[in-house]
Order: sequence, then structure tokens, then C-alpha cells
Amino acid sequence: MALSEFDIIETYFASRTVCRDDVKLGIGDDAAVMSIPDGLELVVAMDTLVDGVHFPANTPAEHIAWKALAVNLSDLAAMGAEPAWFTLALTMPASDQEWLKAFSKGLFSLADRYHMQLVGGDTTRGPLSITIQVAGYVPAGTALTRNGAKPGDVIYVSGTVGDAALGLKHLQGNETGSHTAYLIERLQRPTPRTEIGQALSGLASACIDVSDGLYADLGHILESSHVGARLQLEDIPLADEFRQTIAETEQQQLLALTGGDDYELCFSIPPDSVAELKGIANQYSCPLTRIGEIVQAPGIRMFRQQQQIEMSSIKSGYRHF
Ligand code: ADP
Ligand code: MG
Repeated sequence: MALSEFDIIETYFASRTVCRDDVKLGIGDDAAVMSIPDGLELVVAMDTLVDGVHFPANTPAEHIAWKALAVNLSDLAAMGAEPAWFTLALTMPASDQEWLKAFSKGLFSLADRYHMQLVGGDTTRGPLSITIQVAGYVPAGTALTRNGAKPGDVIYVSGTVGDAALGLKHLQGNETGSHTAYLIERLQRPTPRTEIGQALSGLASACIDVSDGLYADLGHILESSHVGARLQLEDIPLADEFRQTIAETEQQQLLALTGGDDYELCFSIPPDSVAELKGIANQYSCPLTRIGEIVQAPGIRMFRQQQQIEMSSIKSGYRHF
């Protein structure tokens, strides 16, 4: 028997979510009510995943839900915010209980990890599409932004880049290899760098999360900050699984720079704060790798060893329109 809209909300969402003290009124009324502690500011972000655009049709529901929340958490991480609540607009073609059960499981496995409460949403019938809005806190005035990079600052990236883009190629059947499972996991279940983002607050001069590719997203920092960058291509952090799947250096570096869906953090930091990064990387078991530096002249100049490299095939990120 198909569930009604209200049964769906109660069974798969309202009864599953944690309860936070700062939520005065959650799911069930016309809107949610939250209180914000003194001295904190609210940081809000929203992302939509559309079937066939942001994930291949027939992606398991558990992974779709995980990713829909993870990409939003990644935006909060880039601002240095601590996640608190979220809302969910779910449009789906049918009320399929198996699908909803798996979706709910994936969603709350990530939400619970950060003690996030689902406080409301909307449930409609139509082509599968998931919109999540997240909200979190920063101490007033401390949000990380894209516009503070200064010449002389050092550029870092967390984790490794390129894995998810290679995972997509595997999923589409264009590639095969012994690391397929790892690469697809990196595509479907990205790890938001939430703790690292918060730790960078007060240290990083600018920060962005890498969703459209390192080259394009670093470009956003540079534009906002009115500066340029030198990138050292051999320093871009690549996973062993990635290197072993693509043999050729230039192909590796091109995919790592432009692939996207990495959900790592790219940030600039003044040279005298660099020493603090080691402790952060150790504490959260996530490599933070120096890939270049900020310069005055606009644009990105790329080097391999001492030699400047032109990569003619570089395109600047995925664009929907
Ligand atoms: P309204 O018609 O007033 O917009 P709805 O019937 O859409 O209310 O929703 C009823 C309640 O359930 C609201 O509190 C709403 O926020 C919540 N809700 C609806 N869909 C979802 C969902 N997918 N996830 C979480 N809460 C939801
Ligand atoms: Mg209403």
C-alpha cells in the first residue's frame, strides 16, 4: 500500500531525526523555530541534486541522500561553520517504501554524525530531485570567505583530488581497474571536511570547497580576492588508487585540476600560520598539502618543477547553463 505524504514524513523523517536544544519547534507546524545563542552568527547554504544531472539514474538511494547532505555540509565547512539544522525538499516519482527506507538511512547516518536536526521540508511528486538547506553557526565575525587571499599567502588543499571524477568514468563504464570500488565510493559518499573547516577559522585568509574542480574553484578565490596564483602541479595531492589507475602524468594532473565533485577544501593561509596546519592534519587524520602560493598578478600560472606549463585543454569547471 502506498503511504500518504504525511505518513512518509512521519515514518522516514520526523521520527528519525535527533532533537537539539536550540530547536524550539521542528517538523509538524507551518515552519520551524530555532534560537541562536548570543555571540554566534547563522550560516546558511542550499544545494540541489537532480537525477541524471548530479548523480547517474539508479544510484542507490542511500548514497543519493548521503551526498545531498554531504555537499551542503561541504559548503558549511568552507565557511568554517558548525552544522546545526537542515531542511529537505524531496521530489520523487512514486512513494516507494524500499527507496525511502534506504534514503532515510543514508540521510541520518550523516546527519547524526554531526548532531544535525531535520527541522522541516517539503514532499512532492515529480522527477527525482533533492534540495537540502543547511544552517550552522560561527562565532560572530569569524566566517571564512573567498575574498581574503593576499600575495605571499600559501595555497593548500585537503585530502586528494581527482578521485571522484575518475569514479564517475568507472561508473559510466569508460574505465576499469582494481580500484573501482574506492573511486566510486569517493564519488558517491564524499567526506565533508567539517572539522577542518572549523579549525581553519582564524587561520585561513580565504577558503572554498572544491565542487567544480580545483582549477575553477581556486579561480573563485582569486577573483574574489583580486589576486593570482602560482600552482606547482607535481604537488597536487593524488591518491595511490588514482595514480595507479591513470598512468600518464599530464592526464592525472588535468583530471585532478578539472574533474570536480571532490568536496575537499582549498584555502590560502599567511606563511606565519602554516606551522599550525600540521597539528590540524594530524588531529583529523586528513592530509593538508601545499600546492602553490598567492601572487599579485591575476590568473593561475602552473609549473612542473621549474618549468611553466600551458594546459590548453583546461576548461573552467562544470556549468549548467
Ligand atoms: P504545508 O502544507 O504547511 O507547507 P506540509 O504538508 O508541506 O506543510 O508539511 C508538513 C510538515 O512536515 C511541515 O512542518 C514541513 O516542514 C514538514 N515536512 C514536509 N516534508 C518534509 C520532508 N521531506 N522532510 C522533513 N520535513 C518535512
Ligand atoms: Mg502549512
